[in-house]
Amino acid sequence: MFDLDLHLHSTASDGTLSPSELINKCAQNGLKVVALTDHDTLNGIGEATKQAEVLGTIEVVPGIEVSCNWNGTEVHILGLFTRADDARLSEYCSRARKNRLSRSKKIVERLQQIGIEIKFEKVTELAGNAVIGRPHIAKALVDAGYVKYPKEAFDLYLGSSHSSYFPSSTISPIEAIDLLVESKALPVLAHPMRSKVKSGRNPISNLSELISELKPRGLEGIEVYYGDYTDSQISRLSLIAKESDLIECGGSDFHNSGNPGEPQPGTVGPPMSTLSNLKNRLK
Ligand code: AMP
Ligand code: MN
Ligand code: MN
Ligand code: MN
Repeated sequence: MFDLDLHLHSTASDGTLSPSELINKCAQNGLKVVALTDHDTLNGIGEATKQAEVLGTIEVVPGIEVSCNWNGTEVHILGLFTRADDARLSEYCSRARKNRLSRSKKIVERLQQIGIEIKFEKVTELAGNAVIGRPHIAKALVDAGYVKYPKEAFDLYLGSSHSSYFPSSTISPIEAIDLLVESKALPVLAHPMRSKVKSGRNPISNLSELISELKPRGLEGIEVYYGDYTDSQISRLSLIAKESDLIECGGSDFHNSGNPGEPQPGTVGPPMSTLSNLKNRLK
């Protein structure tokens, strides 16, 4: 098991454990330092940090995962060491929350047009206070008996090649990096390659072009140790990180999604030296 996991989700976005439950699970799994990186929100960080203080054995790095659109490809940028009081970042989050709500409504309407009988009200009820995302729609499809697991909902109805798909974001990775740099958080390129448990997501087709665009703007790290990446993916990414002078980051991207084979917190992650490398760049 590993000590460091820099990519985790809670009920503040599309995870199914509350921030406290997530921190308890991470501590039980032996993790020492974890980043909460909910999609387009900082809302879970206060609770996660408090719970870590109660336990006393685990530290929380405040983070975010910003959804971006790079010429039609979905690109996610993690921000590590975010500050809850940053005005521009908070303003971005409230804009993203509204966009995601109207986009989810459009996806549900498209599904209704092809005969899928789920209600938007059911989806918003499942999301509760969370920043809404496709996994909430997937849960509604599971509950209505259309599919067995959320992943199956992505394969059949919610993937980016399906007619119901609308991107969640209009912000480019460069804009996300500018936002994070200005708020003094460290930008990290998330899951740069295809992952089996999230099939259906189009991989970034020109990774070196993306990195050469983002590095001069302040990209600090890249996920090398991620979810279900194979040894050969990890070694290719490690080489890319070294060549581009990016810190080798990563984590499980755990959501407690209920999908079979989901990588658990603490089963994958970067070495502890990544944390000191990141902290050095904060200075
Ligand atoms: P959204 O942010 O609304 O576009 O939804 C994307 C989220 O859906 C990701 O962060 C994952 O949590 C989940 N997801 C994406 N693709 C898949 C997939 N193929 N199988 C299961 N979950 C997925
Ligand atoms: Mn997610
Ligand atoms: Mn992601
Ligand atoms: Mn994620």
